[in-house]
Amino acid sequence: MPARSASPALRLPSIDSLLRHPACVPLTERYGRDALLASLRQLLDDLREPVLSSQLDAVEITPEVLAGRAGERLDLQHRSQVRRVFNLTGTVLHTNLGRALLPDEAIEAVQRAARYPLNLEFDLQSGKRGDRDDLVEGLIRELTGAEAVTVVNNNAAAVLLTLNSLGARKEGIISRGELIEIGGAFRIPDIMARAGVKLHEVGTTNRTHARDYEAAIGPRSGLLMRVHASNYAIEGFTARVPTAELAELAHKHGLPLLEDLGSGSLLDLTRWGLPAEPTVRQALIDGADIVTFSGDKLLGGPQAGLIVGRKDLIAKIKKNPLKRALRVDKLTLAALEAVLSLYRNPDQLAERLPSLRLLTRPQADILAQAERLQPSLAKALGDGWSVSAVAALGMIGSGSQPVARLPSAALCLRPLVSKRLRGRHLLGLEAAFRQLAIPVLGRIDDDALWLDLRQLDDEAAWRAQLDQLQVPG
Ligand SMILES: *Cc1c(COP(=O)(O)O)cnc(C)c1O
Repeated sequence: MPARSASPALRLPSIDSLLRHPACVPLTERYGRDALLASLRQLLDDLREPVLSSQLDAVEITPEVLAGRAGERLDLQHRSQVRRVFNLTGTVLHTNLGRALLPDEAIEAVQRAARYPLNLEFDLQSGKRGDRDDLVEGLIRELTGAEAVTVVNNNAAAVLLTLNSLGARKEGIISRGELIEIGGAFRIPDIMARAGVKLHEVGTTNRTHARDYEAAIGPRSGLLMRVHASNYAIEGFTARVPTAELAELAHKHGLPLLEDLGSGSLLDLTRWGLPAEPTVRQALIDGADIVTFSGDKLLGGPQAGLIVGRKDLIAKIKKNPLKRALRVDKLTLAALEAVLSLYRNPDQLAERLPSLRLLTRPQADILAQAERLQPSLAKALGDGWSVSAVAALGMIGSGSQPVARLPSAALCLRPLVSKRLRGRHLLGLEAAFRQLAIPVLGRIDDDALWLDLRQLDDEAAWRAQLDQLQVPG
C-alpha cells in the first residue's frame, strides 16, 4: 500500500488531465466539454472530503473510475423526463399515466406526419386552402351517424367551446345530479361560468324529472345540457329523464340539447363482455344535437375532444375564435384517423386496438401470467415478503363505468413483519419499484402492494430489471 502524502486530496487527478484522458473522450462527444467539466468538478469536490478524512484512498480513484462516475451522473441528468412506466395499477385508462396506448397503425401515422409535410389544411383536389377537420370528418360521420364534426384538443375543450358557442350570455339548464367534478379540476359549474353560460340547475342530486327541466325553460334559456356522471354512480331512489325525452322537450322550445358523454364509445362494448357504455351514435339517434367525447378514453386514440352533431351548430362552433385556440395538431389528427380506421372492422378491433385488447384480456390469462412470474419475484424479494398470485379487481378508468370492476389478477406482495412496521415496508417497496429503470407502478391496499398484471405486455423487460430492485429492510 502506498504511503499517504500529507495532502492526499492533491493526489486526485487534475481536471485538465482528466478531460484529456481517453476514458473521458466519449463523454465529451456525447455531452459536450462544458457539461463534462461541470460534472467532473462536482465529482472531485464531492470526493475531496472523504479523501481528506481518509475514508477513501485517492489511489483507488483512477481516471477510469472518475470517468465512469461522471458518465453515470450525466446519464441521469440528461435522462428524458418523459419516462416509460409499467402501469400495474389495475386502472387501464389511467389519466396520470397517459390513458390509451396507440395501435401500431397510429404510431406509424404519427411518424409520417412528423417526418414529412402533409395536407393539414390543404385541399389536394382543388389546390385551395383546406380545413384540418376535413381529414377525419368523413370517418367520424360514418362511425357516429353525425351530420358534422369538429375536433379540439381534449374533451374539456370540446365542452368549453360548445357551451361558449351555443350558450354564451344565456342559461344552460342541467340536472343537479350532473354537476360533476372530474379529476384535474374540471367542474361543470366552473366550465359553464368560464364559457359565459349561466348555470340553471334543476331537480335534485338523485332525482330530476322532465317537469323540472320544463319549469326552468324561459326566455333566457340557451340550451339544455346532459353530462355523463363519469366517475360516480347514483344508486337507489333515482330518476333521470331519458335522452330521447329530454331532446323532445328541448326541441319543443327551440333549444339545443348538448350531451357530454365523457368517455363515450363508438361501439356497444357489451359485445366484448364489457359493461355497457353509452354510444355516440345512440345519443345522436336519441336526439342530442351535439355530443362531445374524448379521443383517449374508450375510443383508444390520442388526446382529443370530438364534437359531433347538427351541421348548423357545428358551423357555429367552428366560427368561434376559441376554436383556433383549442385546435388539434397534425400528430393528433394523424393518430386519430388511424385509430378511427380500425373501427371500420369491429371484428378485429379487440386484437388491433391496444386499449380494447387490454380491457378484454381474460382473467385466466392474467392469472396464469401472475403464477408464471410469482417464483422470480418471490426470489427477488427474499424472506421478508410473501408473494402470491391472486384474483383481483381492476377498473376501466377515465370515468368509464366508475363502479364496474374488471376481473383481473395480480401479484400480491405482503411484508412479513409486525403490524407496526408494515406501512413503512410497503412504502419502501413501492418506492423501490418506482426507482427501477422502467418504474413499476402498483397500488397499496389492505396492507399489501398489488401489481395488477392486466397491462403487463412486455414480460421480458419486466423480468430483466428485477435484479435491480433495492428491497428495503
Ligand atoms: C373525462 C371527461 C371530460 C374531460 O375529458 P378530457 O378528454 O379529459 O378533457 C369531460 N366530461 C366528462 C363527462 C368526462 O368523463
